[in-house]
Amino acid sequence: RAKDEGGGEHCEYEPSLHVNAEERRLLEVSLRHALERNEFVLHYQPVVDANTEEVVSFEALARWNSEEHGFVSPGKFIPIAEDTRLIVPIGTWVMQEACREAAANWPEHVKVNINVSPEQLVEPDFAGTVVRALSHSGLDPKRLEIEVTESIFMRDADVARKALEQCMALGCSVALDDFGTGYSSLGYLRKLKFTTIKVDRSFVQGAGQNSPESLAIIRAVVAMADSLGMTTTAEGVENEDEADLIRRLGCNKIQGYHFGRPMPADDAVKIFSRKDAGGRKRA
Ligand code: C2E
Ligand code: MG
Ligand code: MG
Ligand code: MG
Repeated sequence: RAKDEGGGEHCEYEPSLHVNAEERRLLEVSLRHALERNEFVLHYQPVVDANTEEVVSFEALARWNSEEHGFVSPGKFIPIAEDTRLIVPIGTWVMQEACREAAANWPEHVKVNINVSPEQLVEPDFAGTVVRALSHSGLDPKRLEIEVTESIFMRDADVARKALEQCMALGCSVALDDFGTGYSSLGYLRKLKFTTIKVDRSFVQGAGQNSPESLAIIRAVVAMADSLGMTTTAEGVENEDEADLIRRLGCNKIQGYHFGRPMPADDAVKIFSRKDAGGRKRA
C-alpha cells in the first residue's frame, strides 16, 4: 500500500493516479457547475486532546455528490480543482461554510480546521477572503486553524508565506499538514511559525506496526516541535493501541477513525450534547 512506501496521506490522493484523461475531462466539466448546483457539503472530523480525549476542534473535509458521477472522493476532485483553479471559489465556499457552522453551532472552545491549497494562498486577496468569512460568521479568529502542506513552499513561497502571516496577525493559527511526506525540508519550519505540525498517518500506522523508524521519527518530530514552540497532532489513529502509543510519544492532539470519522454537521453537533461521546469525556 502506498502509505507503507512513504506515500502517507496520499492514499487519499491515490485514486487520482488512476483517473484517465477522459474520466478527468468529464469530472472537470461537472466540477465547473458543482458550486452553483450546491453539490458540495462539508463533513467534520473531530480532533481530540491526547490526554483528556475531549474534542478540541473539527477538521472540515469537502464532499462532492455530483449529479453525473455520484460521490467523488476529495482524492479525485481536489487535484482537478487545483489544476483548474476551481479550488479558489470552492475554497472560498468551504471557508465561509465551515466558519458559519462553527460560529453558529459549536461551543466557543472548539476550533475549526480548514484545508487550504497553494492556489488559494497566492490569490491577491486570500487574507481578505478569511476576514470576510470571519466577519460574516462572527467567528473569533482564534477559533480558525488553516491547514497547509509543504507544497505551498514549492512556488510563490513568499506570497504564500505573507498570506499566512496576515492570517496569523488576525489571530488565526496555521497547521503544517501531512508532515513528513512529500518534499520535507526542515528549512520550511524556519520560514513560518506554524502553530501545529500534523504528523502524517503513515508514521502513526508504522509506529502501530512496531516500525522502529516510524517511532523514532515521531519522537523526533515531537521533540523538534516542542523546541520550536509548536504543538503536534497525530493523524490517522485507528485503534486504542495507536492512541496509547501516540500519547506516550507526547503528541498533543489526535485525529483518526478511532475517535471519529468525518461526519455530517448534524452528527458533529450531537457530540456536544452527548453526556459521553463514545466512551470519552464530552467536549
Ligand atoms: P487531509 O487534510 O490530510 O485530511 C485527512 C484525510 O485522512 C481525510 O480524507 C480523512 O477522512 C482521512 N482520515 C482521517 N482519519 C483517518 C484514519 O484514521 N484512517 C484513514 N485511513 N484515513 C483517515 P479525505 O476526507 O478523503 O480528504 C483527503 C484530502 O483531501 C485531505 O487530506 C485534504 O488534503 C484534501 N481536502 C479535503 N477537503 C478539502 C478542502 O476543503 N480544501 C482543500 N484544499 N483540500 C481538501
Ligand atoms: Mg492529507
Ligand atoms: Mg488536513
Ligand atoms: Mg492530513
